[in-house]
Amino acid sequence: MKTDTKHTTNDLLKTYFGYDRFLPNQEEIINNVLNKKDTIAIMPTGGGKSLCFQLPALALEGTAVIISPLIALMKDQVDALKANGISASFFNSSQPSEEQQTVLKNFQKGELKLLYVAPESLPQLNFILNSIKISLFAIDEAHCISSWGHDFRPAYTQLGNLKKQFPNTPIIALTATADRATRIDIANQLSIPNANTFIASFDRPNLYLDVRPGQNRNKQILNFLSKRGEQSGIIYCLSRKSTEKLASTLKAKGYKAEAYHAGLTSEERNTVQDAFLNDTTPIIVATIAFGMGIDKSNVRWVIHYNMPKNIDGYYQEIGRSGRDGLAAHTILFYSFSDIIMLRKFTEGAANEEYQLAKLERMQQYAEALSCRRRALLGYFGEHITEDCGNCDICKTPPKYFDGTLIAQKVCSAVARLQEQEALGMVLDVLRGSQNAQVFEKGYQNIKTFGAAKDISWRDLQQYIIQLLNQGILEIHFHENGRLLLSPSAKKVLFEGKKVRLAHINQEKNQVASEKTPRKRAELFDQLRNLRMKLAQEIDKPAFVIFSDATLEDMEF
Ligand code: ADP
Ligand code: MG
Repeated sequence: MKTDTKHTTNDLLKTYFGYDRFLPNQEEIINNVLNKKDTIAIMPTGGGKSLCFQLPALALEGTAVIISPLIALMKDQVDALKANGISASFFNSSQPSEEQQTVLKNFQKGELKLLYVAPESLPQLNFILNSIKISLFAIDEAHCISSWGHDFRPAYTQLGNLKKQFPNTPIIALTATADRATRIDIANQLSIPNANTFIASFDRPNLYLDVRPGQNRNKQILNFLSKRGEQSGIIYCLSRKSTEKLASTLKAKGYKAEAYHAGLTSEERNTVQDAFLNDTTPIIVATIAFGMGIDKSNVRWVIHYNMPKNIDGYYQEIGRSGRDGLAAHTILFYSFSDIIMLRKFTEGAANEEYQLAKLERMQQYAEALSCRRRALLGYFGEHITEDCGNCDICKTPPKYFDGTLIAQKVCSAVARLQEQEALGMVLDVLRGSQNAQVFEKGYQNIKTFGAAKDISWRDLQQYIIQLLNQGILEIHFHENGRLLLSPSAKKVLFEGKKVRLAHINQEKNQVASEKTPRKRAELFDQLRNLRMKLAQEIDKPAFVIFSDATLEDMEF
């Protein structure tokens, strides 16, 4: 029986999609759906999520209903399916009503293998859903259901009723957002607590990870582009205005570049997107409005002109390059003033603390002194043992020392605090601070109290951030940012795993790209001064915003 199914799925893969083998995790996920089990599939962008519902839709009896947030995305996928001889349609508010009627008719007759629908339009299908055989519900971009996620869509919350209404129809939720808490939230919101969760590796070894100081970005970009010929690439900016400004700068220098943001009409956006897809316009300067679900395999580079507001978004955006598996270059311009601006825009948000914690983690990544990929993957709960050799830090590493003892002390403090405390308290305990909060909780009596009092507060803080970046510690973002021990922490504590730490004070990663020692020293001073200035300004009620952007202009 089992070999039979295998035979069929392989045949379907070949016949309808033209592929010889599955990408990692696809087969397991597909089999789970074919066994009518609820499924959560976490796969990176470009990991091949669509196939995980498209193939079962063909194998199972009835019509699969795919909930998809983007109208453009639906159309692309339906066109591709039709081109492969599969009967598919989409249903959304952008269609003329005659077209909607035709789709509904075909759907009702059970003639479709797949129907794509926007979450907002799902209620209109209700009367048919009850009268025909539905093979499965697929919720694409399922992080949209979580108000913690970065593109929350209110209509997604209605999907919680699907399982109650159709208890016997399997649901598959797919996303590239792997944050553990978001994953759990998806299961809860969809009422599929027993779903099997599949998490594909997030590693994209072909992406070179490069973080650079934000000074002279335009010059750095022009320099970078001068070596890139007609290669396709995306530059992400925070504000609409800056996308337009930068696009015209590039055009003036002879590059084929266009701006893209949510302020354009949908016609304008389609034109720009199409020109990018067919390589007429190789360079897009965009806000994050650009790219969700874009399937272009030969994007060779992605540049973040501004700091993204969290690692989830950053990883999705760089993930749009190198989807063909060939080398791609990603550059993040690190700028402290961007961080100030992003902080400003989280003020008053319902989940302000959470957003700030995520932003802080983004900043820590940018300031990392150890392998970037380890830091990124660690953030997604994936722990690799070797440095990647394909990031700026691995290319020019800082000086390390044996930090095993410090790491052991920190991990042991986190363990003795029962993983209940955030960075600040862990620091206080390790440094033996005699403050009211410590005494209130009786922490002066625990064994690691004062264990690292010989290290300055600031240095110890930096070491702990390094442990975060090395994936030894994790942050529980949804619970006051308390620190958790990762599986590697247990190796540090119990198996004598060695830990390297970088000497701090170097600010190496930000300064390293400057050629001469003098330039590096200058930049270092500049950065330090800027930081001190900003640190003072942060506490003022109305501090300076270092940009001409307004909230309305921002897309993040
Ligand atoms: P995601 O939704 O996870 O970002 P997609 O479903 O858009 O990814 O798939 C990304 C690309 O991978 C598409 O071009 C798709 O055709 C291709 N792909 C999917 N499955 C396979 C496979 N088994 N073998 C080769 N390519 C595949
Ligand atoms: Mg997709």
